[in-house]
Amino acid sequence: MTIRLLPTNLINRIAAGEVIERPASAVRELVENSLDAKATRIDVVLADGGQSLIAVSDDGHGMGPEDLVLALERHTTSKLPEDDLVRIRHLGFRGEALASIASVARVTLTSRRKGDEDAWTIRVEGGVKGALMPAAQGVGTRVEVRDLFYATPARLKFLKTTRVELAQAVDVLERLAMAHPLVSFSLSDGQRTVLSLPAFKGAPEEALLHRLGAVLGRDFQANAIVLKAEREGIRLTGWAGLPTLNARTAARQYLFVNDRSVRDKLMSGAVRGAYSEVLPHDRHALVAAFLTLPPEEVDVNVHPAKAEVRFRDSGVVRGLIISAIRHALAEAGHRTASTLTATALGAFSPGRGAFETPRPSARAISQAWEAQAPPDSAYELAETTRLPGLALPPAVAPEAEPLPPEARNYPLGAARAQIHDTYVIAETPEGLVIVDQHAAHERLVLAAMTEAANQGSVPSQALLLPEVVDLGAAEAARLLGAAEVLAELGLVLESFGGGAVMVRATPAPLGTCDVQGLVRDLAEDLVAWGEALVLKEKLFSVCATMACHGSVRAGRKLSLVEMNALLRGMETTPLSGQCNHGRPTYVLLKRGDIEKLFGRT
Ligand code: ADP
Ligand code: MG
Repeated sequence: MTIRLLPTNLINRIAAGEVIERPASAVRELVENSLDAKATRIDVVLADGGQSLIAVSDDGHGMGPEDLVLALERHTTSKLPEDDLVRIRHLGFRGEALASIASVARVTLTSRRKGDEDAWTIRVEGGVKGALMPAAQGVGTRVEVRDLFYATPARLKFLKTTRVELAQAVDVLERLAMAHPLVSFSLSDGQRTVLSLPAFKGAPEEALLHRLGAVLGRDFQANAIVLKAEREGIRLTGWAGLPTLNARTAARQYLFVNDRSVRDKLMSGAVRGAYSEVLPHDRHALVAAFLTLPPEEVDVNVHPAKAEVRFRDSGVVRGLIISAIRHALAEAGHRTASTLTATALGAFSPGRGAFETPRPSARAISQAWEAQAPPDSAYELAETTRLPGLALPPAVAPEAEPLPPEARNYPLGAARAQIHDTYVIAETPEGLVIVDQHAAHERLVLAAMTEAANQGSVPSQALLLPEVVDLGAAEAARLLGAAEVLAELGLVLESFGGGAVMVRATPAPLGTCDVQGLVRDLAEDLVAWGEALVLKEKLFSVCATMACHGSVRAGRKLSLVEMNALLRGMETTPLSGQCNHGRPTYVLLKRGDIEKLFGRT
């Protein structure tokens, strides 16, 4: 393993640019070097967010004295064995990092090569190398970078606060650690340990899950679905978070190509596409996805910081990611994130015995029983929801009847009651389910609408009295321009003149809907998208807007039959565990959880 200068023709083909923008980029380059040197433990120290000191120590194969001198030169590397920029097997390959760092900071390089008796050290300041000196150190390498950017005050100004720079470095290290679960990592700010990721001692195949759990937290482990797919020699593994475990930014999406952490637009776009039906566009899923493909299928030499890549066949990669995630989500079915249940549970607090409300007397209770209305009138007779697969009998079933035994076998149990005209309470053998009726119904309507739309057109339901919606000339014109597509989705409207539209029919799956609200929201969507032309592409969003105005809103009373139909619909509708806005449609309180609330366990 000796270091040499790369041939000029190769240098010219290497994506050039500023490699070191901030402390975190130096950390990345140094730790990548340690990993390339087959280190099993890597310790990083960052003082003042890396501005006064970045030190990286490893137990890798080290460098001999002559290599120490060469390593600091530009375009010197021990990697790229056959001058082959196609089959890149190391994290580094440009021979630029150490030279770049040494040109903007004071660097000390100390190393002892495996098999050597002695360690050597060399200092560089302002690009000028000092003398090679013997040093005392075990096998491995230690790089100390002091006063980063002291030579380039302009760059110094762009550094953020110590805390921000430290956080960036933590993120870099976490990503590297996720791709190398058999290596121990630590990061200290000079005073205390900020990150400690010891190597997993058990079976290597469990190491990754263990490492992901350590980096992403237990919530992720408990709420993620395994990804495993392969297409045309390209493999995708990892974990996809349930949609309910979403975040405001994509910062917690960890994407890797051949164990290299990347920020690739194609890949993140595919992830977004995979979740598009279950998350609104401003929410992001938590994903750790590892793409493995033959090196000749991907070009990592397109970006100076090696963060972007280019795929030979991007269509296959995109398709693989989308289908693998969608498949995993569909398999998870109506699972909802357990964190939310945990949060809900945390909101309960055990009673202390001192209630404010006076206890009702036994007499008051029996009077209340006698006064109780016959079961039928306890619920309003609700109109039939015309949902495919959710056809309800027109009348309300007598709810005083004992629970049919088979009802207990359904995953979401048997509906028992509705509270606040908003939540359905169902009983399962294992516990209690609380359903947000509006969110759940919206999800089912959306699934029915998109299915019908994909098969041709959505059936419409004529309004007995056409409804006129006043919009203003521009909005009305824009909406009318989309009339044809909207008609395919079951919404039939025409001009009423003077900036108004007349709605003649609404999408049947919605049931009785709020026509005014629906039309106004659609008009608004169209303004946001600019063009009626994009409507077809935004079909899903249009359906989502429509579904939001479906008949079962929060605040509507439901009959037991309707409630049960809702539960059964949720069980058979993929991804019904979360609504179109990524919130859960139901929470589950296990019997054990309930018992815990009462201190029974
Ligand atoms: P590159 O990693 O692209 O080859 P660098 O400038 O990062 O370029 O490093 C130059 C060379 O120095 C590497 O090719 C490697 O041989 C050597 N080197 C750097 N860091 C280490 C390390 N931690 N352990 C062993 N060798 C190292
Ligand atoms: Mg390197």
